[in-house]
Amino acid sequence: MEIYITNRKRNDFPDNNDLSPEDMPLSVAINALELAQDAKHPTISLVGNEPALYPDLEKLFAQAAKRNIRCILETSGLMSDSVKNLILEHKPIICWKLYREKFYSKEDKLEIQKNISEIIQAEIETSIRLYVDDTYDDYSFAINFVNSIQGSMLIVRLNCYEHFDDIRPFMHKNFEWLVNLRFSNHNIILDCMFAPCVFEHDMLGAAYRYGVRTLECNPKILTLPDGTIAYCRHLTNHNDAKLAQFKSVNEIIKYFNNKYFNVNTMLPNTSPCYDCITRAIQRCGGIPLLKKYTEAEAALDILKKKMESPDYQDSDPETHFKDIWNMGSMSLVLNKYADAVECFEENRRLMPENPEVHFKLACAYWDAGRRNEAEDEFRKASRLHENPADPLLELYRRLSENGNMIRARMLLEEIKKLQKK
Ligand code: SF4
Repeated sequence: MEIYITNRKRNDFPDNNDLSPEDMPLSVAINALELAQDAKHPTISLVGNEPALYPDLEKLFAQAAKRNIRCILETSGLMSDSVKNLILEHKPIICWKLYREKFYSKEDKLEIQKNISEIIQAEIETSIRLYVDDTYDDYSFAINFVNSIQGSMLIVRLNCYEHFDDIRPFMHKNFEWLVNLRFSNHNIILDCMFAPCVFEHDMLGAAYRYGVRTLECNPKILTLPDGTIAYCRHLTNHNDAKLAQFKSVNEIIKYFNNKYFNVNTMLPNTSPCYDCITRAIQRCGGIPLLKKYTEAEAALDILKKKMESPDYQDSDPETHFKDIWNMGSMSLVLNKYADAVECFEENRRLMPENPEVHFKLACAYWDAGRRNEAEDEFRKASRLHENPADPLLELYRRLSENGNMIRARMLLEEIKKLQKK
C-alpha cells in the first residue's frame, strides 16, 4: 500500500505530479496506517514528488512505529540534514529514486552522494528505483550507483503509457548491464510493461536463467492526498472511492478487482495480445490496465463521434443496432453504467424478442444497482433463450456473490428443474 504524502519537490523530475492538496493531512495518513496495520508484515510506502519534504514526516514515522508498521520512504536523495537525521533515527527502508543524469546538477550529485553514503553507513536498508522516462536513452550510468550499495535491489520502472515498440530499444541498449548486475549479487526487478514480447528470445532466456524478475500489472493501492484511492499512480484520474469507505486492505483489493474486472478481461481487437500464445499459456497477463482502459475509452470515443456525424442518420437499422450494442458493451466495460443502460434499453426497443439484449440490459441494470429490474430482465432473457438456464445461472452467480444465498439457492432449484426438461 502506498500513500502519496506530498507534492513538494526539490527538482523538476519526470514523475512529478500536481495533486491536491499539496500535503496529505496527517489524519488521512493515519487512516491509511490503520488499514495497513492488519497485514501479516505491515509495510507502507511513503511516496510523492519528494516525500522527504513532507512537513509531518516525524509524526508519521512515530504513528507508524506505534502500530509496528515498517515504512518505505521514497527519496531522490536530495534532503536537508534535519530530514537525514530523522531517517537515521527512525530507519525506514529507503527507496532511492534515480533519474536520467541530465536531471541533476553537479551540486545535486554531490549532495546525493553524501546523503546516500551516510545512510548506507548507518546500515539502513536501501533499494533503487530507476525511472525510465525516455526508452531510447542509455541508462548504464546507473551501474556505479547500484554498485555503491552492496547487494541492493534495482527496480526499473517504466511509464505504462509507453508503446511496446518503444520499449524494445530500451531492452537492446540496457539489457546487458542489467543482467551483469545479477553477477555482482544485485536483485533486478522489471516493473510492469516488461512483457515477454518486448524481449528477444535470447534475452528472455537469459532473464529467466539469471533470475531477472518481471512484474505484472497489479494494484499498488495508492492513497492520494485528498483521501481518495487509486489503483496505481498512473490511474490517479480514475479515483472515485475514499479510503475511509474500507475496513481492510483486502476489501480495497476486492473493490479494484470488481471495478476493473471487465476492462482487465477485455482486450480490444487492436491489442497485440489478442491472439498471443504466451497469454494463452498463462505466461503473461497481457498489457497493463492503464493501456487497456485508455484503448477502451478511445474505442468508445470513436464510436460516439461516428454516431454524431451528419452522415450517420442514413445508416441502415442493422448497423444502428450494432453500433448501439457496441457502445453499450464498451460503456459496461468502462463502468459507465447509466450510459450502458441507455444503450441496451434502445436495443430492447429495436429488438424486443432478442434474448441477448435482455441479458446485457440485465447486467447493466445490476451493475447500476437496479437489482429488481435486472432480475426481471434475466428472467425475460431466460424465457426467450434456447437454453433457458443460462441467463438464470448468471443471476445465480451474481446473487451468491452478493451474499443473497437464500434467494440464490431457491433460484438454483428453479434452474435444476429447467435443466431436467
Ligand atoms: S500477452 Fe500481450 S503483453 Fe503478454 S507477451 Fe503476449 S502480446 Fe506481449
